[in-house]
Amino acid sequence: MSQTFDFILIGAGHNGMTCAAYLAKAGYSCLVLERRNKIGGCATTEEAMPEAAPGFKFNLCAIDHEFIHLGPVLRELKLEHYGLEYLWCDPTVFCPHPDGSFFLAWQDVERTCKEIERFSPRDAVAYRDFISYWQRAMRLFATTFNAAPQSIPGILRNFNPTVINDLFDLADGPTGILEFARRMVTSPQNLINEWFDAEFIKAPIARLAAELGAPPSEKGIAFGVTMLAMRHGPGMSRPRGGTGMLTQALGALLTNLGVEILTDAPVARILVDNTGRAVGVRTQAGQEYQCKMGVISNLDAVQLFNKLLDPADAEAWAEGVTGRLNRTVVNNNESVMKIDCALSEPPRFSAWGHQDDWLIGSLLIADSVEHVERAHQEPLQGKIPDDPSLYVVVPTVLDPSMAPPGKHTLWIEFFAPWEITQGSDRDWGLIKEKIADRCIDKLAGYCPNLKSSIIARRVESPVELAARTATLKGNFYHMDMTVEQMLFFRPLPELANYKTSITGLYLTGAGTHPGGSISGMPGRNCAHAILREHRSFTRPRIVHKVGKRVKNFAMQAAFRAGVDVNNI
Ligand SMILES: Cc1cc2nc3c(=O)[nH]c(=O)nc-3n(C[C@H](O)[C@H](O)[C@H](O)COP(=O)(O)OP(=O)(O)OC[C@H]3O[C@@H](n4cnc5c(N)ncnc54)[C@H](O)[C@@H]3O)c2cc1C
Repeated sequence: MSQTFDFILIGAGHNGMTCAAYLAKAGYSCLVLERRNKIGGCATTEEAMPEAAPGFKFNLCAIDHEFIHLGPVLRELKLEHYGLEYLWCDPTVFCPHPDGSFFLAWQDVERTCKEIERFSPRDAVAYRDFISYWQRAMRLFATTFNAAPQSIPGILRNFNPTVINDLFDLADGPTGILEFARRMVTSPQNLINEWFDAEFIKAPIARLAAELGAPPSEKGIAFGVTMLAMRHGPGMSRPRGGTGMLTQALGALLTNLGVEILTDAPVARILVDNTGRAVGVRTQAGQEYQCKMGVISNLDAVQLFNKLLDPADAEAWAEGVTGRLNRTVVNNNESVMKIDCALSEPPRFSAWGHQDDWLIGSLLIADSVEHVERAHQEPLQGKIPDDPSLYVVVPTVLDPSMAPPGKHTLWIEFFAPWEITQGSDRDWGLIKEKIADRCIDKLAGYCPNLKSSIIARRVESPVELAARTATLKGNFYHMDMTVEQMLFFRPLPELANYKTSITGLYLTGAGTHPGGSISGMPGRNCAHAILREHRSFTRPRIVHKVGKRVKNFAMQAAFRAGVDVNNI
């Protein structure tokens, strides 16, 4: 037995569900099929150690939400009506430096400058200028983030007086625009050296920029420094109850809009008819679902074309695309290793005059730019970093609801190779606990109470993360976020506008513009592109319904008057 929907979405990641929400709001029937037994993809909160640590909730992947506040998804979908409440981090970053200095960023720039002034008055002045510059740049980038990359009218619509003002500021002076262009093609490392002197401030900026998934020396990704600028505005937040509350809210909205969501339903094949149109899907269990308007993939294009399309269909209707994806898309060997711990007390950075409030934001273990660089270069070469640079969060300081009273959780992430190609131990299954011990030792060097406070821990290697999330080589951005794979190049120029040459087969998710992280932008942009193709995006559900009623009424009136509507 098969069922028919307007659209079928493969994957219930936050982008797939965002896309479904816009389509359903426009009046279309949608089915979302998710392979896991729960929705959310890389945005879930789970009681991951129910026996060893009951009542402790862990964000198994994403934790800090910034990009989603640069677009209108939250406002347009009114997710607060479905239980989503954002808690704002302040301070946003704490990075202790081995010489006893530290970088402490508050949401307020002036307050942050005062902290920096204690260790480097010159860099405090530079910081004010730096953040102001990159915040303006960020607002400018956001005009492209919130539109299909090849839609000039869509991008222009996002220009408002503030952004136009930002553009004039950035282009100010005889060389302003050239200077902006130069900064865009340089590396985060060069940019940081251009602005700052002291290592205690350079290292955390490099660490955050490297969150794009490339070492700070990589040319063309200097815009990674906006990862820090964003923390000053719009700010950095986390959903109360964990990241999973975002996807739970999306799930509740979809249910309310009549969207059917099926979990434990991995899609095995996209059904393409003999005119080259995607007309449905078949799950691994053999169940078929038909659709009238399209199939939308939340997984990356490489896996989609290689695994879910029949090679004969791919070759007949998208000639050469699979080969081009396989040869052209760059997905380096860099993934992440994740450690989650249940704690009896928060870690204490005693040598830095620790205050519990400093644990609200992200804690960065980044001793120098050189340390961050090595911690990225080694995974790229298939080596587990000897001295990983850690991104650490104690989510329960901001949100105590995520653990039993008085207890805490610890979230640790660091860059690690998906495939180990150096050294004698190359099997992640055999060595992951040893590597986790090395990280805990490193962190305990900063907070001596850490080891005795660990109640339980869960270690997930890049290989396990890839299997759990179905991400290619454990790349949680679905493909690298390097400059030649962004904007109208993502994932390939011919696939960059969320469409493929197979009629009715669409792409969304982190592997499409503007890329990975929690933003909902690929989902919203994809829905825009589809709706524009079928009818006006601005035509709301109610207008659709009223339109249908008027049409029915007219047909009935014509029938009663004896007019044969088929001949009109
Ligand atoms: C450890 C870690 C930490 C992170 N930290 C942050 C952070 O702090 N801030 C941030 O902004 N971002 C962070 N990210 C990145 C962010 O989580 C992702 O980029 C983002 O969630 C991707 O969302 P998506 O909807 O595009 O794709 P995904 O979340 O990957 O969703 C894709 C969905 O498709 C499903 N699927 C795949 N194949 C099939 C199939 N054949 N049939 C049916 N379903 C299928 C998958 O199961 C999944 O549910 C982190 C990621 C990881 C792994």
